[in-house]
Amino acid sequence: MKCILIIGDGMADRPIKELNWKTPLQVATKDAIDELTRRGVCGIMDPISPGIPPGSDTAHLAIFGYDPTKVYNGRGVFEALGAGMKVLLGDVGFRCNFATVDDNMVILDRRAGRNIEGARELGEALNGIKLKDYPDVQVIFEHTTEHRCAMILRGKGLSHKVSDSDPDTAGVRIYDVKSLDDSPEAARTAALLNELTKRFHEILRKHPINFIRKTNGLPQANAVLMRGASTLPHVKPITEIYGIKALAVVPNALVKGIASFVGMDQIAVLGATGTVDTDIVAKAKATIENLSKYDFIFVHVKGSDNASHDGNIQQKIEMIEKIDKLVRYILDHVSLDETIVALTADHTTCLGTREHAGDPVPVVIAGMGVRKDGVKAFSEIDCAHGGLCRIRGADLMPILMNYLGKCQKFGE
Ligand code: ZN
Ligand code: ZN
Repeated sequence: MKCILIIGDGMADRPIKELNWKTPLQVATKDAIDELTRRGVCGIMDPISPGIPPGSDTAHLAIFGYDPTKVYNGRGVFEALGAGMKVLLGDVGFRCNFATVDDNMVILDRRAGRNIEGARELGEALNGIKLKDYPDVQVIFEHTTEHRCAMILRGKGLSHKVSDSDPDTAGVRIYDVKSLDDSPEAARTAALLNELTKRFHEILRKHPINFIRKTNGLPQANAVLMRGASTLPHVKPITEIYGIKALAVVPNALVKGIASFVGMDQIAVLGATGTVDTDIVAKAKATIENLSKYDFIFVHVKGSDNASHDGNIQQKIEMIEKIDKLVRYILDHVSLDETIVALTADHTTCLGTREHAGDPVPVVIAGMGVRKDGVKAFSEIDCAHGGLCRIRGADLMPILMNYLGKCQKFGE
């Protein structure tokens, strides 16, 4: 038995007036998903716990079977993983922004105009710099997308227990980083980060890219804002827990980082973008092509979340219909006698509020051994009548692995 798990990021929603008080899943045309539903067992799932709006990072950790309240101490390290950076245990990771500041370090633009031409070169100028007082600490810096960057500090005596330098608003000075506990490691890391903020500013303000930006009347990318300090938790990868080979078909940086952290191999799929214009059939083909080599394949589609954050109703419906094409291709190419196929969302993202919400998400599991439950359509409302009832995110992996015969017996 094999397993394919498909996650439509932020796919679940609330009923909205514009859709006659239905959800996007209820109005989208999704024959393949509904076929999967008729052939499967359904339920609703609280990714973290009832009412708690999950981030994509904590939701995925939970769905892969971990307790995010125990293993998660911030997003920075996952941002770095997602950027393809190698992260070691003990490294402290950060999410960073290029920003525009004045001579007093007052923030004029938190994103330095957002799309920064030459941002990669600016990132390279900061990567690998050494601070005189911290010769043993490696600074690994990389531009990711638009104004965003990821940073890793590597060395002894560091801590993630430090505050953000990013005030999350313009018009104020970059915050001094402070230690969040009494440890000498946190104090040292905070002092180092404050030193680093100054050095980054010195390097960036003299960088040729910024001269060009000035000539063109663009905001200077002359500072770096840091937030989300975190470290990798010590966890056993799912590949070891269940003795499986696992593959992630995920273009989105953050989710890709989490998938690799829990032990999944990665493949890059041409045309898979992690946005609404992703080539869904290319992803479906890559999944099927690799099924003989893996026990578990995780396919992630990000566009449904993007559309929700943009409040774009039509685009969200179209993304669900794209996911339907993915499910159709999979149903056409696998036998449910040999493969468990599951579909869910990592959280609800409301078109109304354009934010994640703590409502449960629908889930369906189809394949050999599954107790079909008579639910005919895949939606937040229909699946609530299914045989899985209401589960938590961390229940999903054991449920799937049980069908694969990969769960250890508990007791004699
Ligand atoms: Zn998400
Ligand atoms: Zn989101």
